[in-house]
Amino acid sequence: MASGRRPKLAVWKFASCDGCQLSLLDCEDELLMVAEEVEIATFIEATKGRTRGPYDLSLVEGSITTPHDVERIHQVRRSSKHVVTIGACATAGGIQALRNFRDVHEFVSVVYARPDYIDTLSTSTPIADHIKVDFELRGCPINKVQLLEVISAFLAGRRPNTPSSSVCEECKRRGTVCVMVAHGTPCLGPVTQAGCGAICPAYSRSCYGCFGPMETPNTASLASQCRRLGMDDADLLQVFRTFNANAPAFRDESRAHER
Ligand code: SF4
Ligand code: SF4
Repeated sequence: MASGRRPKLAVWKFASCDGCQLSLLDCEDELLMVAEEVEIATFIEATKGRTRGPYDLSLVEGSITTPHDVERIHQVRRSSKHVVTIGACATAGGIQALRNFRDVHEFVSVVYARPDYIDTLSTSTPIADHIKVDFELRGCPINKVQLLEVISAFLAGRRPNTPSSSVCEECKRRGTVCVMVAHGTPCLGPVTQAGCGAICPAYSRSCYGCFGPMETPNTASLASQCRRLGMDDADLLQVFRTFNANAPAFRDESRAHER
């Protein structure tokens, strides 16, 4: 990038609830510092103003669910030096990927008075299924500290420093008693990627996997343990089929419990 020019940051929305973009707005003081370092060229959640590309860094929230999305994400790629996807929708297809397990036209005919007005794909897919993505930041929503780390890393030209271990490791680090061992509560922490700070177990709740699968998760072993704690196939199908239902490891494990 030319010296003296602030790098251009763009934030794009596809099928999503806007929660991950709100994590960026929630950065408050830090966002002002980011705004000093970068030119926020496009961010319609925050401002109507829009500067044309090319962009140095594009943050993409949301999944691909329409033919128009497919065209638009290729435009984003063409106009961006780096593309980072943020959140479960963008990295795995989101809760809307539940359609991938059923016939979407059935839903459309039940929900809309004029189904013929709806132009939708039969699946909800992550951005990386359509274009090259430089980094995926997980979570539903994402963790704002991790988001700032990712933005800083790309501005500095280095790899983001984010953990690839499980939520269990975060519990151990903060001294949280294991809800599965101590209370017999089934928990997805052993197969879920760290990054949230193990918030739920810290409040004696089980992890429901909103950060998606960690690297090489042993979901079959965890499912066996959950069975010993009283879950049946219907329960197991449900726990793996939430925000990250279409992430391959969770998708395959949920399919193993279809009856
Ligand atoms: S990942 Fe979760 S919080 Fe983020 S946009 Fe999707 S549904 Fe909303
Ligand atoms: S503990 Fe699990 S469900 Fe709770 S915020 Fe962290 S990853 Fe999400």
